[in-house]
Amino acid sequence: MTSAVHSALYLSVPFCRTKCSFCNFASGVFSRDLFDRYVLHLERAIAGAPSMAADAGAELDPLLDSVYLGGGTPSVLAPDQLDRVFAAISRTFKVAVNAEITVEVAPGTLSDEVLAALLRARVNRVSLGVQSFVDLESRSVGRLHTRDITLADTARLRAAGITEISVDLIAGLPHQTAESWEQSLDELVALALPHVSVYMLEVDDDSRLGRELIAGGTRYHAHHVPDEELTVSLYERACERLNAAGIQQYEISNFARTGHPSRHNLRYWNRLPYFGFGVDAHSMLPAPLRGETHRAVRIATPESLDALLAGAPAEHTVVTEQQAIEETYFLGLRMNRGVELLAIKEEFGIAAVDNYRGEIFTMVADGLLALDEGWLRLTPRGRLLSNEVFAAFLRG
Ligand code: SF4
Repeated sequence: MTSAVHSALYLSVPFCRTKCSFCNFASGVFSRDLFDRYVLHLERAIAGAPSMAADAGAELDPLLDSVYLGGGTPSVLAPDQLDRVFAAISRTFKVAVNAEITVEVAPGTLSDEVLAALLRARVNRVSLGVQSFVDLESRSVGRLHTRDITLADTARLRAAGITEISVDLIAGLPHQTAESWEQSLDELVALALPHVSVYMLEVDDDSRLGRELIAGGTRYHAHHVPDEELTVSLYERACERLNAAGIQQYEISNFARTGHPSRHNLRYWNRLPYFGFGVDAHSMLPAPLRGETHRAVRIATPESLDALLAGAPAEHTVVTEQQAIEETYFLGLRMNRGVELLAIKEEFGIAAVDNYRGEIFTMVADGLLALDEGWLRLTPRGRLLSNEVFAAFLRG
């Protein structure tokens, strides 16, 4: 049994000018000689999308309503390489006239030629990895741009007609203080952007700064990282400032003016199908079977560039009905609007809600979740402890 997949496409480009100390993505600094081989890999992977969908038991509707080039820093590709990537997309898919086409750009990498390539490809949204408007903070984590470069790039994008601009900030960078954070927020609000993402610094083994923090050392300015309490208050302050500026929080880390949330990310949280190619990318394709209407297949590409280019196969995992229910809760709860329990009952049956009654009541009583006219959502406290909340919905 097959079902039509009306879809989105994510492509990862794992190349960066420098490796930021806090970064835990599958990205790094590689020789430009590799770029061509990588683009060739993407061209082949995109061309293989219909057969990949067919193998998963899904039928490909070639209409894309979202294309997203992330990574990494896609804007380090040469203009002709960007042209090749977008040409490959058009050969296999139809990009809807009103599609959201996003490219992640590191401030300072937007040459006139790259900007022209983005315009040729009908790119209408740019996500700028700013992280901080305070130069000391950006420098301390290895970023090469300054506040002035960010402001100049924003102005150039707008002048070129790309007004859907998103800026990422990180709360908890070395040297950050309540005062310096206010400075970044002032700059951000003054830019009057339609979309903003604010993340809290992740302290884990996957980044150099994270490892140094865990070890209690001083490399990478680790001893200048604000403590957890301050980082949380910086994040809360960002929520307050952005909401007051009309850039409303709609997800744990994302804020947008009305009508401007990231369509691409909304697809993930609403469990709509997508293709993902390149290093460490995922596809999620519905592949229902008789008696398992919500079955899907997740296809994960290798996390290492060497393995990918050497032809290592992607990993296929079946998403069962039960896992689909769990994902519906923990992805849906990421969004401020939350999940509608009646809709879950209608989609998966009464047990999909009844089985979680105990957990839901406990977490409502603990102030982590709120239940309002049939919608279940995270409270502000729940947003800070979201992993704990999500874990309660896992039965595997
Ligand atoms: S944070 Fe962005 S620019 Fe920095 S290394 Fe990671 S992917 Fe590259």
